[in-house]
Amino acid sequence: MKKITIKDVEISYTVVERNVKYPRLELKSGCLVLILRRGINDEKGILIKHSDWIYKKVMEINRIRIYGSGIEPVIRTKDLFKETVNKYLRLSETELGVKSNKIIFKTMTSKWGSCSAKGTITLNNYMTGLPARLIAYIIYHELVHLQNRRHDNVFFRKVQKRFPDYKKLEDELAAYWFVIKQRIEHM
Ligand SMILES: [Zn+2]
Repeated sequence: MKKITIKDVEISYTVVERNVKYPRLELKSGCLVLILRRGINDEKGILIKHSDWIYKKVMEINRIRIYGSGIEPVIRTKDLFKETVNKYLRLSETELGVKSNKIIFKTMTSKWGSCSAKGTITLNNYMTGLPARLIAYIIYHELVHLQNRRHDNVFFRKVQKRFPDYKKLEDELAAYWFVIKQRIEHM
C-alpha cells in the first residue's frame, strides 16, 4: 500500500500496471487503485491531477463507513434466503408485469446483482446478510432492467415510484457491503 496526502487526509492506494491506453483510477471495495500503462510511472502527477475526485470519493466512502458502523449482517439460513428472494421476485414480477428467465446465485466482488439481456438475474450470495427490505429493493432494481437496460432517468423514475427513498437504500447497501465483506474475510 502506498500513501498520498490530499488536503488533510492520508489516502492509501495501490498501483496496477496493465495494457491500458490511458491511466485510470478505480475504487474497488473502498480502496483506491491507480491503473497505469506499463512503463509509465508518473503516479504522483496523475494522483495530483485527480486529487479533487479522489478526495470526494474517499470522503464519501468514509461517510458510508461511519454510517455503517452500527450495523450487523442479518443471519439467515440458505433456505430462508432463497425463500425470501423467491417471495420478492414473484411480488416484483407481478408489480412490473415482467418475467425473469433464470436466477443465479453467485459470489461477486463488485455488485449486488445484475440482469442479462436474456433475462437472467444474477444475485450476489452476500445478499443473505441483508435485511429483507434491501433484498426487495435489489430484486426490484434488477427486474426494472428487463424494461430499461440502462441507468437512465426513466429507469430511476420507475425505481423511485416504488422506492421513493431509493437513494437512502443505496447508501445502506454500500454500508452493508463493507460490513458483510469484512465479516466474510475474517471468517
Ligand atoms: Zn442497475
